[in-house]
Amino acid sequence: MAGDSTVLRLTGVHRAYKEGDHLLEILKGADFELRAGEMVAMVAPSGAGKSTLLHLAGLLERPDEGEVFIADTGCGTLSDAERTARRRNDIGFVYQFHHLLPEFSALENVMIPQMIRGLAKSEAETRARQLLDYLRIGPRAEHRPAELSGGEQQRVAIARAVANAPLVLLADEPTGNLDPETSGYVFEALAALARQSGLSALVATHNHALAERMDRVVTLADGQIVPFTG
Ligand code: ADP
Repeated sequence: MAGDSTVLRLTGVHRAYKEGDHLLEILKGADFELRAGEMVAMVAPSGAGKSTLLHLAGLLERPDEGEVFIADTGCGTLSDAERTARRRNDIGFVYQFHHLLPEFSALENVMIPQMIRGLAKSEAETRARQLLDYLRIGPRAEHRPAELSGGEQQRVAIARAVANAPLVLLADEPTGNLDPETSGYVFEALAALARQSGLSALVATHNHALAERMDRVVTLADGQIVPFTG
């Protein structure tokens, strides 16, 4: 259930890219708010700026103008080191392609971010096993990514993204690379995990059927984030 506090807020965000000798304006003063425990889908055509928005929200890029708040912290004036720390502690990412470390097992892939954050190996392993069990891939824990199916790889990526209990989960077409049945299953797993743990999520997806199952659906129109009306 959505709470009263805001975990992510974008105010007046502008982002443009140079394309040849003209400027491609992607975001033109976009505002957005994600409340605690809320799951929001973002549906928009390819090239509309979904990834750009997620990169700004995830502190991977800085807006040209405007501000990104994580909880109550305005992140514009933070140093790169402070932004990296906030990203590590407060934000989980799931991408279209899993980006798991190929030479490590599923279990290790979920343990590593926790150990980077300072957790002891045994604690990280306990939490990783719980997450993998919850996502019904416990029996695959010792396998490397190449030995897992696409749906299994994405579930490991989801477990890794939430392993440090982030404030915000950002997902960029997390099921875009999967067949419809697997896509539905992975999405269910993501939603169940988010609801069970009170996680807030912003999920870019092409899949309208999946989007409709979130609390709210937004789209990008003329550089703004607006409610999606179908
Ligand atoms: P979406 O995720 O909705 O497909 P993107 O945010 O990836 O959209 O891209 C929005 C537009 O911005 C596209 O036209 C893309 O080519 C352009 N773009 C994205 N990143 C860059 C970049 N680093 N440099 C130049 N153009 C970019």
